[in-house]
Amino acid sequence: MSGPLRPPGISESDFRLALAEFAAIVGRAAVLSGDSAAQSYLDPFDPFPPGDARAHEASAVVLVADIDQLRAVLDVANRYRVPLWSVSTGRNFAYGGAAPRLKGCVVLDMQRMNRVLEINETLGYALVEPGVSYYDLYRELKARGSKLWLDPPAAGWGSVMGNTLERGFGTTPYGDHAAAQCGMEVMLANGELVRTGMGAMTGNRAWQVFKPGFGPSYDGMFMQSNFGIVTKLGVWLMPRPEGYLLCRYMFRHDADLETIVETLRPLKLDDTIQSNAAIESAMRWAAGVSTRKQWYDGTGAMPDALVDKMARALGIGRWNLRFCLYGPERMVKARRDVIHERFARIANAELIEMPFTDAAIEPKGGGDRSQVGIPNMDAFNLLNWRGGTGAHIDFSPVCPPLGQDAAKQARMVQERAAQYGFDYYGGFTVGQRSMHHIFAAIFNRDDAQQTGAARDLLEALINDFGAAGYGQYRTHLEFMDLAASQYDFNDHALMRMSETIKTALDPNGILSPGKQGIWPGKTTGRTP
Ligand code: ADP
Repeated sequence: MSGPLRPPGISESDFRLALAEFAAIVGRAAVLSGDSAAQSYLDPFDPFPPGDARAHEASAVVLVADIDQLRAVLDVANRYRVPLWSVSTGRNFAYGGAAPRLKGCVVLDMQRMNRVLEINETLGYALVEPGVSYYDLYRELKARGSKLWLDPPAAGWGSVMGNTLERGFGTTPYGDHAAAQCGMEVMLANGELVRTGMGAMTGNRAWQVFKPGFGPSYDGMFMQSNFGIVTKLGVWLMPRPEGYLLCRYMFRHDADLETIVETLRPLKLDDTIQSNAAIESAMRWAAGVSTRKQWYDGTGAMPDALVDKMARALGIGRWNLRFCLYGPERMVKARRDVIHERFARIANAELIEMPFTDAAIEPKGGGDRSQVGIPNMDAFNLLNWRGGTGAHIDFSPVCPPLGQDAAKQARMVQERAAQYGFDYYGGFTVGQRSMHHIFAAIFNRDDAQQTGAARDLLEALINDFGAAGYGQYRTHLEFMDLAASQYDFNDHALMRMSETIKTALDPNGILSPGKQGIWPGKTTGRTP
């Protein structure tokens, strides 16, 4: 294909006409094309060595400002068969950023649709448009003197919409973002606007309080999917508690992980610990507060004896457990006593005592601020770990909250990461009934060897884990097909169902082809 990049299967003249029609709808300034436009929508953490970079490059970008523009853009896309890759603010870093799965897609950027449509103080929810970031919502809550807390993900700059649709998570009791979502408005590929749940009934006021509605429930169908474009999203917000107690335990030995998880599970299952609990390896903690060079300057993974030394020097454990308790002081202390009594049984477990704090008082550190609903960007500190142009790609398998699974997964990642020269920047987020294991392969993008190794490591890990019966909850664009292929019960019956739905709702295959491994039908000519 000669000339500027364009979507696969579309002639240069048709693409030019489509771009002109987009410009007539959204304004010339809101259609970006050419190399510089594409450049700013590349994945800044792309794990491709220079020769292979731009595998997920956009051909152009369209920024819509409202529903009418969106509908008109879809009409053009259908007529010319232009594939669109929908993003809310495009900050899905470590999983692909704003870049499309299929090279040549046009990015449909919704950051201009950024109104907080409602904050309901009495019922505890917000209704937002795609472009509303966690910072925007936080500022709006503050400006209104609201007594509601949001739940920020690790990096607060992204959108509530994007993170929730990707089933992201945070560390307050509302940390399961998909579970705290209630009611959507969705535009289908044909321009039809649908409201889910109670929103489907004219005049009904329970849209953001009762998820199911009447009949099948569809919200989950539009998460991590390419079946529609979500234009409004309801999210539950946590009533500000009287106060909070930040809890932190340190454990001396790498082998303590199994016991930590076994101790934690019953406390999560019966809700004694209300929030997602984070179990962080020494490396994960160290990468937030120091650089690798301070401890080790070798090329391979940091030797175990040095990890021990580093942990001692930083005053942290080989594993570190964090969570927060919320409510009136007497209830928080009762919870704390029960929890402490259980963890004290682990040899050498150390509790860092923190005071019960009035909810109006903000903690200082980023991780602590996240636990009380304040967005921040401290998660990006890890980019300095290896020096150069820091980047990371995340490996995110899920497992039951059982000690032996945790220990097995940590060992599998540590061994494989070491083979590729990566430190174990890993940890677990323990929810009420499941556990996410998040490992970041941190690399310097200026170093082609490291960059290529990060990509290869991720592929090896996904294969290893698939063979062991562990699936991903989310992946970088590059591995969506691989991760999806592992959900293979009954000869991939689930994927066949997804493809049937895709063909019915989006016959021209214009919405996010390849998202989560779901590709439009063969007739659209769009395949991986
Ligand atoms: P962030 O909130 O981190 O900026 P993105 O905007 O990058 O997140 O969105 C993450 C992913 O979620 C996108 O790649 C896309 O697949 C999906 N997504 C985002 N917004 C929408 C939307 N409004 N409708 C459908 N899918 C969306």
